[in-house]
Order: sequence, then C-alpha cells, then structure tokens
Amino acid sequence: MTRIVYVNGDYMPEGDAKISIFDRGFLMADGVYEVTTVIDGKLIDFEGHFTRLERSLGELDIANPMDRDAWLEVHRQLVGQNAVDQGMIYLQVTRGAPGDRDFVFPDPDTTAPTVVLFTQSNPALVDSPKAKKGIKVVTIDDLRWGRRDIKTVQLLYPSMGKMMAIKQGADDAWMVQDGAITEGTSNNAYIIKDGKIVTRALSNDILHGITRAAVLRFAREAQMRVEERNFTVEEAKSADEAFVTSASTFVMPVVSIDGTELGTGTPGPLATRLREIYIEESRKAAI
Ligand code: PLP
Repeated sequence: MTRIVYVNGDYMPEGDAKISIFDRGFLMADGVYEVTTVIDGKLIDFEGHFTRLERSLGELDIANPMDRDAWLEVHRQLVGQNAVDQGMIYLQVTRGAPGDRDFVFPDPDTTAPTVVLFTQSNPALVDSPKAKKGIKVVTIDDLRWGRRDIKTVQLLYPSMGKMMAIKQGADDAWMVQDGAITEGTSNNAYIIKDGKIVTRALSNDILHGITRAAVLRFAREAQMRVEERNFTVEEAKSADEAFVTSASTFVMPVVSIDGTELGTGTPGPLATRLREIYIEESRKAAI
C-alpha cells in the first residue's frame, strides 16, 4: 500500500511529494513539528499537540496556517487513507520557501509556511517488547540551544546523542547541564526514589512534553507523590526506578544509567503501573 501524505493542501502518494530546495526548514531548520500518536485509529491528546504547535509557531513568529478543526481534519484524513491502527502522525510547519537563501525572514504576505504531514504505522506501540525489558541510557553533555521549549526541527544534536548511546550499547541518552539531567534525546526523564517521582520543572531548558503533563496528572490522581525539580546524575543512579515519557513511547521504563543498574535491573512497579494507566486513560480520551 502506497503511503498517502499531505503537502500544502494536497493529499498525494509519498513518491509525488516535493519541497523546494529554498525551503527554510531544509536550509536553516526554520520550522517546528509535532508527533501525535494513534491508537485504535484515534488520536491521543490532539488538543495538547495543537496547543503546543500554536505556541511553538508563535515563539518563532510563524503564522499558524490552519485552525484547530482544519488540522484535525488533515490528521483524520491521513489516519483513514493510510488505515493506521497504531502509529504516529508527524506534522511539520516551516517558514516556507522564499526562492532564495537569506538570514532575514521572508515577508509572510508573499511566502506562505510549508506544511507537511505523514503517518508512520507501528503495530507494536502498545504491546511494546522494549517496555517489557526497559531501556538503558547513558549520560551526555546537553549541547543544545537555549530554547528547548520550542519544538523545532533542529534535531542534529539529539540524533548524535542517540548514536553516542547506541555505540555504547545503550538505547538512548539523558542530557546533562550543570550536573543535572535535563531530558532524554526525544523524551522527558524521571526518577523514582522511596515512592516519589522526580522530574525537572518546566522552563526553557526542556520541551514541555504533552505526555509529561498527562502522566503527572494521572500520577497525582493515583495519589503518587510528584516533585518537579532538578536531579543530578548521581541521584539518578541511586534511584529505585526511572522512566521516560513521549508521545510515541508513552511511559518507557529505564533499567540502567551509564551501566549502573537500577533496582533489580528490570522495569519497576511504579513505572509499569503508570504505563498501564497512561495507555488506559489515553485510549478512553482519544478522538
Ligand atoms: N523532550 C524532547 C527533547 C522531545 O523531543 C520530546 C518528544 O519528541 C519530548 C520531550 C516528549 O514530548 P511529548 O510527550 O510531547 O512527545
């Protein structure tokens, strides 16, 4: 089955999709993105992703090319046309293609944003073999820019970080700034000690994860204790449990940090329970 993608108002087979070489997303990483998960053919936390998209665009002074209902319609069309049961929808908005390269932003009246969406099916999203084993992380310096709260497409350092982890036989990297963990390469990071969940507070240092917001809400509703503050690498290594959250991995247990096993070296009970709650509640609220 040929995948149908969306480019600037049109649905087409992926092989027919074309973007200008002058697109500022391509030349300057001048664009933002969102990833929304699909379970049972329905969208998880669409409102959260739409709200963050609006904020990211606003911070970069790019006009939102579509209203909420139009975005929702494109998401639903792509899920339907590609028969996605479990998977993701990737969306990207760039400042467009002004027809030449220039550091100065183009006039938005003559250069429209470029909008691209495509789907990725993943039948093993809910019943993930990785979630049963847990993942191993290594720590690396956080060398990203200072506006990590904006979900831009400049993902080179996170991608390099992932490769550094893989070269060391791990699955992912946790990034460190001034001795404290910021977040994972593509997820928010948490530790659990004596039943208390600790994760870095929101600021420009981390992406404000949509899954993070939902998971912390569910944790508090389940009477789990949550502390939003910095935590060090040493504190993380002596934690009872750890996990990461993202739209595409939900709650993913972490079983070792820089080769130090946490607890029994298997997914911890609280992380496992939070994953179950998150999937159950998200399924109920999906649209
Ligand atoms: N932090 C970073 C750096 C990310 O790239 C992501 C997701 O891509 C997240 C956190 C998790 O965000 P969300 O839960 O909205 O997927």
